[in-house]
Amino acid sequence: MSGEKEYREFKIPHGHCPICGISIPEGKKFCSRKCMEEYEELKKLEKRNRILAYIAIAWFLMFVILYVYKMVAGP
Ligand SMILES: [Zn+2]
Repeated sequence: MSGEKEYREFKIPHGHCPICGISIPEGKKFCSRKCMEEYEELKKLEKRNRILAYIAIAWFLMFVILYVYKMVAGP
């Protein structure tokens, strides 16, 4: 029975480290602490980029609204 269990464990889809792609046992998210820290850094950067994108969109919308307002209000 142990042989079958080993076989099944081998067949179980294992995870991959999101940073370096090394296959890691299921349940684990990263292969090493270094990759975990790198991932956290990446996530932080992504969050900041998203905030910057929201600000850019808000600015754009503000300009559009101002432009439309001027068009409607006339000279
Ligand atoms: Zn890794």
